[in-house]
Amino acid sequence: GQTMHAASHYTITTDTTFPPFEFQTQGGDYRGIDMDMLKEISKREHFTYTLKPMSFNAGVQAVQAGQVDGILAGMSITDERKQTFDFGTPYYKSGIVMAVANKSKVDSLKDLKGKTVAAKTGSSGAMYAQRMAKKYDFKITYFNDSNTMYNDVIIGNTVAAFEDQPVMAYAIQQGTKMKIVTDPADGNWYGFGVKKGANAALLKDFNAGYAKLVEDGTYDKIVNRYLGEGG
Ligand code: GLN
Repeated sequence: GQTMHAASHYTITTDTTFPPFEFQTQGGDYRGIDMDMLKEISKREHFTYTLKPMSFNAGVQAVQAGQVDGILAGMSITDERKQTFDFGTPYYKSGIVMAVANKSKVDSLKDLKGKTVAAKTGSSGAMYAQRMAKKYDFKITYFNDSNTMYNDVIIGNTVAAFEDQPVMAYAIQQGTKMKIVTDPADGNWYGFGVKKGANAALLKDFNAGYAKLVEDGTYDKIVNRYLGEGG
């Protein structure tokens, strides 16, 4: 016979601000590719969720501590993270770029020697910066969110930021006074993350819903909403 079961409810964290994947509207709602996708997936898979935005690094730790069920935050699927996370279907290809203030003459990793750059705590951009810092001899200042990191570069405290290419390009297009000076490095895909071995049901729901969004064109529609055709 049929089994009745209560609809699942999850808590999901996202970054405080990481447009076009997540950002808060003036009205206080969270929108963006990740947020619109999550909403559509939850409708199709009949689950509800409470969104708990926090700094990316805090979100990563909250999943590991079991304080939230999952993280959807433009999170890169890396071999290192696969030790402690299970990831959903890869959904967006990204890479790390170096960006400087509009008027800066810094345009390569070599120019960073003896200087200080900005990176976001716990991000793959920060991990890339750490590797490059050894080779090119520069220092790193850490920030909890992307906006504060960009501002630090714009006011000239730090000479460059390391950020995900689609996010940096979007910020610049929206008026952030910076320019990208390197090709994307360390390419990887974004994925929805849950604590390893701890939330198979949620991961299954997410992937099932995501497959439907791809199938019926909703995923492309969401991406185009923020990035235009071909984004
Ligand atoms: N994609 C990067 C990472 O996974 C940055 C994510 C973010 O800052 N929200 O580390």
